[in-house]
Amino acid sequence: MPHLKKSDTVCRVTYRPEQRFCSLCQSLLKRDHILWRKYMLFSTGAQVVTSWAYRCPRADCPGATSVYRSAIADKLHLRQRRFSRELVVRVGYRRFWQHHTLDELHAWLTQDLQLVICRRAVANLLLDFLALLCAAQPARIRDQLGRLPGLLIAIDGMQPEKGNDCLYIVRELQCRVTLLAVNLVESSQEALCEQLFAPLQVLTQERRLPWQGVVSDAQETIRLAVAQSLPGVPHQACQAHCLRDAGQLTFEADRAMKKQLKASFRQALPRLRQRIQALPTADPFRPVLLDYTAALRSVLPEGGVAPFELGGIRVFDALTDLEASVLRCQKKGSTSCCAVCWR
Ligand SMILES: [Zn+2]
Repeated sequence: MPHLKKSDTVCRVTYRPEQRFCSLCQSLLKRDHILWRKYMLFSTGAQVVTSWAYRCPRADCPGATSVYRSAIADKLHLRQRRFSRELVVRVGYRRFWQHHTLDELHAWLTQDLQLVICRRAVANLLLDFLALLCAAQPARIRDQLGRLPGLLIAIDGMQPEKGNDCLYIVRELQCRVTLLAVNLVESSQEALCEQLFAPLQVLTQERRLPWQGVVSDAQETIRLAVAQSLPGVPHQACQAHCLRDAGQLTFEADRAMKKQLKASFRQALPRLRQRIQALPTADPFRPVLLDYTAALRSVLPEGGVAPFELGGIRVFDALTDLEASVLRCQKKGSTSCCAVCWR
């Protein structure tokens, strides 16, 4: 942690309260003492920031003991931190919105902004950013929910592995705000009612928001929990989940076809490659044919996403294109050796 530097190169900034007059007697406020002075790092460089406390000068005023401070100065920093709030937000934005790595952030801070900071301190900045984000969330939710006619929520549970905790996310669908994220050990009807719907009901009662509806997958316990906690509220099955379930057979058939295609090529490909590599290096077709085998190899790992992106069909189409390309080469007449190899 750098000490307060006396050098003239560090910019010194002083703040006084935005309010100029006493709230009670309207006298002009007088400078009293320094509230805090801090060496802080901004994206534009280092600054020594001083925040002054002001008081009413009249001893007989009932507000004489009140201390007036600058709200702008208080917003600049985080307690016990030398990095300004502005810099913390910039770092967080680059990490979570622009997906910069820790090393990229470190390089940006040290090379572009010329700040002295170690890699570990960058990780601490990210933790500060997440704490800020978490603190701002209730205000954001309050603000967004205040404009809604009613609550329309989507519930989804994610379980990375069977037997693990399940993470339930509740989002408001009209303003796209995440209202709740809860890790549940068990996904029983009672647990869902208690830990998901009870806090949501408190929220709607506080805001006096009517329920408009619930969207979720067809999980039986969610269905029962909605019926128990929110009787009469419309509950619709999520269309994306339904389509995925409906397309399950097609997706499975596609996956089986892809597996078969891959298996037949995986056995033949190494042999084909060996034969092409055995051709004389002066052969003009050798690099072309090697390119074809590389293309074949890159096509085979194509994956799919249910319900509409079918990996097997994609592999089949790519193979058909490759075949057509090879056939065109053969038709030109000068690719007899290609033909021998490809067969
Ligand atoms: Zn006063």
